[in-house]
Amino acid sequence: MGADLSFDSVYEECGIIGIFAPDEGVARMAFFGLFALQHRGEEAAGIAVSDGSVIRLHKDVGLITQVFSSHNLSPLQGHYAIAHTRYSTTGSSTARNAQPVVIETQYGPLGVAHNGNLINTAELRSDLLHRGVGLSSSSDSEVFPMMLAGARGATWDERIKNAMPEWKGAYSLVILSRDGVHAVRDPWGFRPLSVGRLPSGGHVTASETVALRTLGCEAIREIKAGEIVTLSNQALKVRQALPPAKRQARCTFEHIYFSRPDSVWDGLSIHSVRQRLGEELARQSAVAADVVIPIPDTSIPAAIGYSRFAGIPFNDGFVKNRYIGRTFIQPTDSLRKQGVRMKLNVLEENVRGKRLVVIDDSIVRGNTSGPLVRMLRDAGAREVHLRITCPPIAHPCFMGVDMGTYEELIAHRMTVEEMRDHIDCDSLHFLSLEGMMRAIGRADGYCNACFTGDYPIDIRAIQSKVGFEQALA
Ligand code: SF4
Repeated sequence: MGADLSFDSVYEECGIIGIFAPDEGVARMAFFGLFALQHRGEEAAGIAVSDGSVIRLHKDVGLITQVFSSHNLSPLQGHYAIAHTRYSTTGSSTARNAQPVVIETQYGPLGVAHNGNLINTAELRSDLLHRGVGLSSSSDSEVFPMMLAGARGATWDERIKNAMPEWKGAYSLVILSRDGVHAVRDPWGFRPLSVGRLPSGGHVTASETVALRTLGCEAIREIKAGEIVTLSNQALKVRQALPPAKRQARCTFEHIYFSRPDSVWDGLSIHSVRQRLGEELARQSAVAADVVIPIPDTSIPAAIGYSRFAGIPFNDGFVKNRYIGRTFIQPTDSLRKQGVRMKLNVLEENVRGKRLVVIDDSIVRGNTSGPLVRMLRDAGAREVHLRITCPPIAHPCFMGVDMGTYEELIAHRMTVEEMRDHIDCDSLHFLSLEGMMRAIGRADGYCNACFTGDYPIDIRAIQSKVGFEQALA
């Protein structure tokens, strides 16, 4: 297990890609597409390729550049590919849990890569085990291929459609058969998935549009909630397999934190949304200050928006070591104590003697804001006013984001004033729910359960496991 030198951030479960590109070296395309999605998961990566008869797979734990080389990519020959980069929320971080999952079925080989989290995994796993189907990993993603292998239907398209009603929760999937790639999005639309056309006539589907742009795609469109889109030799085939859920539930955190700023989600530029989040924050939490600084990188657009609206100059206050990532080399104890210092360093000349507005995207566990404020004070900052681009996160996420219990969430245990005291900043302000949605520019269609506790799907089956009753008591 690698050393976790990460910030107090929430982590997305995965990034996925599917490709149909005859005669184009799909494994290399998948590699470069995954590279654009590395931020969505740094623990494991995999690529599976079909040449029309067999599926070949390479996957392992590590960053994409650690997992793949020219040597292991060259045997992956074919026209169809799916690929995955993983951050684990369900199942431990081992090579066994890396994706895609590839199995042999009575209809030929099948590969699946998944982004999201099913809330009824335990039930589905137990069903499979009772039917005598063996499972080899602790990941929830294994249930998809195992269920598809036994689903009714004459084609993969039909079998996917027939299995979908059983899957409750967040799932964006890419499914590889001998002669096609199927992209599937759950009826709530929790996780993003888009599709674009290659200049050569093939197609690519990916978690974020930045991966499609990286591969040169045009005519990009989002896959709709409940849709199956098939990429194969025939033209792109689109099927509304399940009606979209009445309550659509795009994950707000794609805008706040997960997606790259150069991606588009729900027709909205992530970068522009983040700038507007900063403007809303400035509107709601004015304070006399000398400079606005972001916690890099996610908060940079929001800090620009705050600075512009408040008329306070923007400047860098921290420099980030972009290469540290999730290292698999254990730091020494003395380095571990340095914690965030291994990732961020203060630019003293920009903060000394200054009253600072510091912009951050979220506070989850509350274990890094305090050290960051201390670093700024040690560097001579006169005042530190912390501003957060979303409301307090007081409820767990069960839909594939790594904040699964009430106990770990600082906003569940403390009021804003108690958090300010704990972090030891001069003032602390969270963007209101209304302000956040105004910045996104949508009145509904989003999941905000981690802020409100109002879940878009029935989560009673798993509530007891996370101390929900206790939390309400
Ligand atoms: S609970 Fe929060 S993190 Fe989870 S899907 Fe909803 S908005 Fe996203």
